[in-house]
Amino acid sequence: MAPSLFELQPNASVAIDGDTHVFPVNRVFCVGRNYAEHAAEMGNTVDRSAPFYFTKSSQSVIHGHPQIKYPTGTQNYHHEVEFVVFIGVAGHKITADAAMDHVFGYACGLDMTRRDLQAIAKEKRRPWDLAKDVEQSAVIGTITSKGNFGDIGPQKIELFVNDKPVQSAHLSDMIHSVPDIICDLSKYYTLQAGDVIMTGTPAGVGPVAIGDKMDARIDGLSNLVVTVET
Ligand code: MG
Repeated sequence: MAPSLFELQPNASVAIDGDTHVFPVNRVFCVGRNYAEHAAEMGNTVDRSAPFYFTKSSQSVIHGHPQIKYPTGTQNYHHEVEFVVFIGVAGHKITADAAMDHVFGYACGLDMTRRDLQAIAKEKRRPWDLAKDVEQSAVIGTITSKGNFGDIGPQKIELFVNDKPVQSAHLSDMIHSVPDIICDLSKYYTLQAGDVIMTGTPAGVGPVAIGDKMDARIDGLSNLVVTVET
């Protein structure tokens, strides 16, 4: 029998508000272009027919540290604040109606990106790994359980850099909803307990510099505050 959620031996783990368990991170899936204004600012059209994905390795996850490192190999390291979904129950070919039964909870996250290398990859039609699967680039805050968070709807998602607002939207602005993402992703993967889905970023992405403080906030979730260091 497969081990239960809290018996898994993870590369990374994430604290859960009000729970002595820690969430064992398995895979990290990320959704691209899930807010229309962000797609537009990147010069892309929106594909409403289905989401698309890239992945980060679980070794890219950082949780519970007040600092993240500015990585080598980039001159343009960007912030992307995201609503992060944690899978607690495995499933394959999950229907949208049943999707929420597979969700454990949610957290604030940052999908940090080497934007310069992503631009080169796009131009040369190469994979995005060097841009996205970066050490300490999947920055994840403390989890709130699905029951404590309630329904996903008009909650604000915001990022402040050095106390200045830079990204702001509502979770209801997502082009592909959380149930639709789980339904679509599970056509291609057997989702496993411990899988993590970063659901895309609103408009306002931009570069960070060493010393910058990022403060990610989503209504109903723990704030995620990290400073960029050398
Ligand atoms: Mg992203």
